[in-house]
Amino acid sequence: MASDIWTVVGDEVGSLLHDLTTRRVGVSASEEALAQWIESFEFDEPESLDALTVRVSRMIREGIVHVTSPRYFGLFNPSVLEVGMVADALAAAYNPQLAVHSHAPVVAEMEQRVLQCLAGVLGLPPDGTHANFTTGGAEANHSAVLVALAQRYPDISRRGIASLGTTPRIYLSEEAHHSFVKVARMTGLGTSALRPVPTNEAFALDPFSLEDRIRRDLEEGGDPLLVVATVGTTACGAVDPLIEIADVARRFRTWLHVDAAWGGAAGFSPRLRPLLAGIERADSVTWDAHKWLSVPMGAGMFFTRHPDAVRRAFSISASYIPRSIARDDADGYTTTMQWSRRAIGLKVLMSVAHLGLSGYARLIDHQTDMGDRLRALLTGAGWETVNATPLPLVCFTHPRIADGELSTRDVLEFINARGRVWISDVKLKDRDPVLRACITSYRTEAADLRCLVDELERAVAARG
Ligand SMILES: *Cc1c(COP(=O)(O)O)cnc(C)c1O
Repeated sequence: MASDIWTVVGDEVGSLLHDLTTRRVGVSASEEALAQWIESFEFDEPESLDALTVRVSRMIREGIVHVTSPRYFGLFNPSVLEVGMVADALAAAYNPQLAVHSHAPVVAEMEQRVLQCLAGVLGLPPDGTHANFTTGGAEANHSAVLVALAQRYPDISRRGIASLGTTPRIYLSEEAHHSFVKVARMTGLGTSALRPVPTNEAFALDPFSLEDRIRRDLEEGGDPLLVVATVGTTACGAVDPLIEIADVARRFRTWLHVDAAWGGAAGFSPRLRPLLAGIERADSVTWDAHKWLSVPMGAGMFFTRHPDAVRRAFSISASYIPRSIARDDADGYTTTMQWSRRAIGLKVLMSVAHLGLSGYARLIDHQTDMGDRLRALLTGAGWETVNATPLPLVCFTHPRIADGELSTRDVLEFINARGRVWISDVKLKDRDPVLRACITSYRTEAADLRCLVDELERAVAARG
């Protein structure tokens, strides 16, 4: 019966959600058990779908870090909204092909509709903005550099980097995302094109150092192609000063890219929106839905106000796509890095439609409140916070860690072995590592924070 398997899947998801809080956050299976499970796939004989689903579900339950737990305080991996699971199931079932508009016109239009709405949430101009979904922030950042190159050097797609006669430079803070290292390699610019700019005491890019760096490069014959400003750095949630950076970018006619992979969600919240002031001057923006919008991976977004440069970077015609169905302005394969593309945007559209903008504002504000509360709880318990950001990401240490009596690694080993919560550590500039806790789940409540602080206290006490 076709319906039976969906009962099995439904029961699985139901029980996952039911005991999300009490479940061990970290991997619970031993390495031996994992190895045995993997070897158990011999692929010789067919296995019933029911049995396979139950078996694989158990392996996943015990063999992953549960990033959807309200007690996962790790990297920017969210608890997923149920609406996103439903949308992804529909996308898998219907398998709409987004490479060409005419194959899935209604889904292509849904994607554009929600992108237009989200461009508005960021404060980007509604007209003239090109937007598309990507697999994630890394692809969006890669797209930004390719489109900036196409804009600056109209002939580059034919003649290549070697023909430029100058060295394009990319400026970014020391805290910017490492995807730009890969981008520099993949674009052929090379990692020496990346010009790290020092940060201030809040770990935000210092605009004076940026200007300085650009001037020095110009004197040496380099070409300042692009400046990256980050809203919500991965390590400590720092927000680069967009307006000052936009001023520098304009002065040197440099493309301004804002990497708001996580922090873009500030746009939903009247309280946080001021952090995005200046983003409307960006040439391009990265924003991930699979981070703070709580949709399943992978769903990134790329926005730019240079649709012509997008076309120069990506447009192509292929003989196997009949002219009769081609729509150059709207076919995904002519405006993005991808060819075949799944309906990434369906889960984003359905999530925004289901929660509404007000629902997202509440979700973002709730997590922000939880971040403030965690900061207060930690300080009250004798911990020291070392970063200052309104976003719910707390970097902190303990006097006994600072004194060298125990290390962040000791704390993490203790906590992650117990498995009640999950956190990580991070190195900021040349300081010693500190602990890092991010509110990544809209389900996190005060009791979960108390559990985290309790675990931290135990970790310190365990060291006598
Ligand atoms: C996560 C992140 C990225 C990379 O995005 P993916 O979706 O993981 O590819 C880029 N920049 C920032 C600031 C991020 O936080």
